[in-house]
Amino acid sequence: TTFKELGLAEWAVQTCKELGMRRPTPVQAHCIPKILAGRDVLGLAQTGSGKTAAFALPILHRLAEDPFGVFALVVTPTRELAYQLAEQFRALGSCIYLKCSVIVGGMDMLSQTKSLMARPHVVIATPGRIKDMQVEAFLVLDEADRVLDVGFEEELKVVFQCLPKNRQTLLFSATMTGNLQTLLEVSTNKAYFYEA
Ligand code: AMP
Repeated sequence: TTFKELGLAEWAVQTCKELGMRRPTPVQAHCIPKILAGRDVLGLAQTGSGKTAAFALPILHRLAEDPFGVFALVVTPTRELAYQLAEQFRALGSCIYLKCSVIVGGMDMLSQTKSLMARPHVVIATPGRIKDMQVEAFLVLDEADRVLDVGFEEELKVVFQCLPKNRQTLLFSATMTGNLQTLLEVSTNKAYFYEA
């Protein structure tokens, strides 16, 4: 399979090439077409499998088609992971006009508010700081098992209550857990299930 065959736009295919991504990894080959088709997805794959690009590429593809329609909220368990995700989004989105904000604990409220006032397309956050955010289209839970592990159920419950029903929800996790099963049931709509 090639990135082009997955349905990605030419600019995205070129960006992958420039970043040294020659062929889609299995999680990318399976999940990208489903995400482009509008499905909710649960992907079980380890770090290093290319799972970040598996959700970032189709989100950026959709964003480039409709810059006013897409806004993604990506929730990840730690600050470090949030910055790493932002780095990948920025690299993959370098040739479209991507505004990406990182909202994590330790950041002062003023700069957080300013960065959200710039109306970013993609917000990458840890669960503690996102209770008052709105998402238009995509919700991504990265390392979903770990997000739940660290006891963020309460925060996530509030987030889910604030989100529109017609969103596309993408859950990526290394392992399947009971908590994740519950989350899958309450948060997604007939998700496509990929397991590495
Ligand atoms: P992740 O699983 O998202 O943590 O990605 C692990 C690393 O693999 C990242 O540094 C990516 O830049 C790299 N990567 C992602 N997709 C590919 C690909 N198709 N070919 C080569 N490297 C990739």
